[in-house]
Amino acid sequence: MDFSQGKNVNETIWTVTFYLTLFLCVFLHELGHALAAKKYHINTKDITILPIGGLARLERIPEIPRQELWVAVAGPLVNVAIAAILYLPVVLGLSDSQEYSIVSVTRDNFISMVLYANIILVLFNLIPAFPMDGGRILRALLAMKMDRAKATKIAAGIGQVLAVGFVLLGIFNGNFMLTIIGFFIYLGARAESGYTQTSSSLRGYTVKDVLMTDFKVLDKQQPLVNAARLLLDGQTKDFLVIEDGRVAGTLSRSEMIKGLSSRGGHIPVENVMNTEVNFLKADASLESIFPLSQQKDKAFFPVLDENDKLIGVVDSENIIEFIMIREAINKNNAG
Ligand code: ZN
Repeated sequence: MDFSQGKNVNETIWTVTFYLTLFLCVFLHELGHALAAKKYHINTKDITILPIGGLARLERIPEIPRQELWVAVAGPLVNVAIAAILYLPVVLGLSDSQEYSIVSVTRDNFISMVLYANIILVLFNLIPAFPMDGGRILRALLAMKMDRAKATKIAAGIGQVLAVGFVLLGIFNGNFMLTIIGFFIYLGARAESGYTQTSSSLRGYTVKDVLMTDFKVLDKQQPLVNAARLLLDGQTKDFLVIEDGRVAGTLSRSEMIKGLSSRGGHIPVENVMNTEVNFLKADASLESIFPLSQQKDKAFFPVLDENDKLIGVVDSENIIEFIMIREAINKNNAG
């Protein structure tokens, strides 16, 4: 093996190490979001590392502006911290900060390259557009002065203008990546303002407005086969499971089917029911429970009155239908 080939192998190893380190930095960034969210009792479902960045899927987005601000800032702050730590060896000349190229990382410029990458991660994430952290930071800051729907509208508008700018700049400079990023930001802004618009069309309504009083109950001691009979008997797909007159759990069609196939029809309902029940208050605002109703594909909630008496149920489909009706009426009034 001649010298130059040895150098190439070395370079390849350092370049691969650089990309692995970059993934780690992106992961730590997402971990920053997740830990900040945890502080406000919001769990993270999972963290995905994408080529263009990462994504921490939170159970819900915090709606209190100060909380949203902290959760959004926590990610870039991690990269600032990493950059600050690496700054010392670079400034002391322990790493070559002149020679930077993302295709040939060497032992000499490795630390500088990781430092640059973290600075770029911070700048990229602070672009004030959804779904970037900068978009959330902007919305949170605006929401401290105005209502959240309006803040989202303005933030999404700024994001879309920026996105169009990126696309045009990308086309004129022949920078394909910039065009892609522009499209990505444009879609992100649209999705975010759509979601918030939807949620704000529920303003002024309460859980009582979507209440279904026609529901079916099962006793938790009943065998699962009875539940199956009830499923076939009508339109109901979700059941309340009762113990001593109180709701002890819920049983969905899929939980029922899963139970029947894995454990048989003779086992009592309580063995397969879902015990993590979210009770809704009849006078709770629909807007406030909307994020909760969107967490699962099909969410199902018992509804209690002011005396904690069961008065009906609500499911996510119901809420979606209500939104469709509201939007149709609003469109008609506007047109
Ligand atoms: Zn982030």
